[in-house]
Amino acid sequence: MLKILITDPLHESAIEILKEAGEVEIATGISIEEIKQKIKDADALVVRSGTTVTKEIIDASENLKVIARAGVGVDNVDLDAATEKGVVVVNAPDASSISVAELMFGLMLSAARNIPQATASLKKGEWDRKSFKGMEVYAKTLGIVGLGRIGQQVAKRAQAFEMNIVAYDPYIPENVASELGIKLLSVDELCAESEFITLHVPLTTKTKHMIGKTQFDLMKNNTIIINCARGGLIDENALYDAINCGKVKAAGLDVFEEEPPTKNPLISLNGLIGTPHQGASTEEAQLSAGTIVAEQTVKILKG
Ligand code: NAD
Repeated sequence: MLKILITDPLHESAIEILKEAGEVEIATGISIEEIKQKIKDADALVVRSGTTVTKEIIDASENLKVIARAGVGVDNVDLDAATEKGVVVVNAPDASSISVAELMFGLMLSAARNIPQATASLKKGEWDRKSFKGMEVYAKTLGIVGLGRIGQQVAKRAQAFEMNIVAYDPYIPENVASELGIKLLSVDELCAESEFITLHVPLTTKTKHMIGKTQFDLMKNNTIIINCARGGLIDENALYDAINCGKVKAAGLDVFEEEPPTKNPLISLNGLIGTPHQGASTEEAQLSAGTIVAEQTVKILKG
């Protein structure tokens, strides 16, 4: 009987699919030592973002054939160690694109209309309509940094709001942008032209701090910036200064350089609204990510 070890909470439908391939053991919230024990005779390991699959864990396995990451990024899996051991790594890159794109609009509209601040005021028993005057997104320029899966979902939805869309993505063919009615610019031009900026690129050595002091200085006053991609794309010290000096009216962040951002001074700023890295936290995205990787896992295990 094949053994499938699950170490992070997984959608029930995905667990049912995995049961077709063998005996499923669910052990969430366990220590590295316990994972090393349990993985010894496992044929597959299924994780989300909670488990960091290190070389130490991979090397402790004797039968492992698949590591399944029920989600997009595989930054929590040591890919070199897996390759070295001949273990296949599968993920679900498309599963959460719509959920992340929708969260971006949640943050953008919340920032434009001061919804979190107005809600907090209302809950204190106040009825203050003057302090929360906002701005429309209609006919404003939205700068999309990274026109991949999520960036394109954002673009389609921004068109319904009748926004003017520009993008920076040096790797996307010109025709992909033009077919979507999007003008491609350099990142600096995008920063100078946009009222709203949203980031949808991976975090790499090239993209780390790609939005820093130079880019904030180029922005119009009262720009709104959203990051639902990865902490580290924005230089948070520069963002702190940009909010304080009025270049940035508000930032909507789902991701932070350090998570959770307990000691992050940005959190205390009124212009900062945020969510705890919950871009993919929807019923639909988790169902989709879970079932996609479960099906791939069963296929590989059954040969
Ligand atoms: P994708 O690979 O489909 O798109 C990324 C795009 O970025 C590509 O078009 C690529 O050409 C472009 N790109 C790469 N390097 C670049 C650079 N140096 N400058 C400009 N553009 C560059 O990825 P995706 O699925 O759209 O995901 C985008 C981001 O969203 C990733 O960082 C991913 O980790 C993140 N994400 C976050 C959550 C969340 O919970 N908040 C969930 C899913 C994905």
